[in-house]
Amino acid sequence: MKIQEADAKGLLLAQGLPVPAWSVARSPAEARGAAESILATGADRVVIKAQVLVGGRGKAGGVKLAGSAGEAEAIAGQILGMSIKGITVRKVLVAAAADIVKEFYLSAVLDRAARQILLMGSAEGGVEIEQVAAERPEAIVTVHAHPHLGLLDWQARELAFRMGLGGHLKAAAGIAKGLVRTMLACDADLVEINPLAIVREAGPNGTTVERLVCLDAKVTLDDSALPRHPELEVLRDLDEEDPADVAARAAGISFIRLDGTIGCMVNGAGLAMTTMDLVKRAGGEPANFLDIGGGAKADKVTEAMRLILSDPKVNAILVNIFGGITRGDEVALGLIEARAQQVRDVPMVVRIVGTNAAEAAELLRAARFETAATLDEAAAIAVAASQAARA
Ligand code: GDP
Ligand code: MN
Repeated sequence: MKIQEADAKGLLLAQGLPVPAWSVARSPAEARGAAESILATGADRVVIKAQVLVGGRGKAGGVKLAGSAGEAEAIAGQILGMSIKGITVRKVLVAAAADIVKEFYLSAVLDRAARQILLMGSAEGGVEIEQVAAERPEAIVTVHAHPHLGLLDWQARELAFRMGLGGHLKAAAGIAKGLVRTMLACDADLVEINPLAIVREAGPNGTTVERLVCLDAKVTLDDSALPRHPELEVLRDLDEEDPADVAARAAGISFIRLDGTIGCMVNGAGLAMTTMDLVKRAGGEPANFLDIGGGAKADKVTEAMRLILSDPKVNAILVNIFGGITRGDEVALGLIEARAQQVRDVPMVVRIVGTNAAEAAELLRAARFETAATLDEAAAIAVAASQAARA
């Protein structure tokens, strides 16, 4: 689950990391109010940032500076409602504009292969890290943190030093350790600060001081761990979720949309993967991964069918059920019900084996469904139907 920058910053702050104060505005008037309070504290400019769950907001015109409350209101008016990579901006973050001296990159990700947390740092921050990785991989330094021990002091210092943050060693090492704590505390997959910036701030008696701060934050949480974090689940931004994902979660169906044309309804994750493999081997492309789960009843089947058909690319459907706890006749009843409600007529082939397969076959025959005895046969029929629909 992706969360907004403002919420990600809250998680970093909770781990004691240096994040400049911010507020969130949903209208130009709110942005004006926020800017007024910030400017009243002595800041000479404010930064207004689109809150959308995609990167590259800066390049897209979603990050702008304003020198007065009126300008902040006008800029918020431009950013709110604009579309960034297809997503409409509904909120902006407002903060005192940082006087940036240099931008760095620092992130922690789950390295599944190494079974550890991987930290990546670079002195080439601000820009997209994928570009740095492609053009100058030597500009990225890495270190692994043990999931139980966390990032050790010497590792944190070495990372900071190799990133060119020798002048801010203590702060940088503290931030690196904080990223790992955030990963562990939130069961995150990714915690990314880009830019981690050296900023110039007013010091005592008219002097200026330099400080290392987290200017941007991106956190991705492990969906499977969310049940243990009700306080994080509420950060889900339903405005930006695919309605199909919201519906699937509500129904308890595992659903992942893919690029192909053949909708798949299967019980069991392993069988769903196998079904997709066989569709591909038969020359087709699956439109989705869908696992209706064990013991699915007719209403779940109906909901699954609705999800599959909500994808306009789907021009054939393959239903593959291995009845164990799930009863074949329940699924057959669900399919009959689903077809009665269906708004779009798409060819469908059904393979049901296992518990109550004979009853299922009887129901499907009476309702004139096309059935297949084996998965290979079902895949071949679905692929042929999909290709015929395209022609
Ligand atoms: P992203 O483009 O979505 O990653 O958004 P960022 O928050 O990283 O902002 C993009 C860029 O805008 C940063 O790399 C900075 O160069 C610039 N920027 C962001 N905040 C400030 C700020 O407070 N002051 C100044 N001067 N520039 C900023
Ligand atoms: Mn950024």
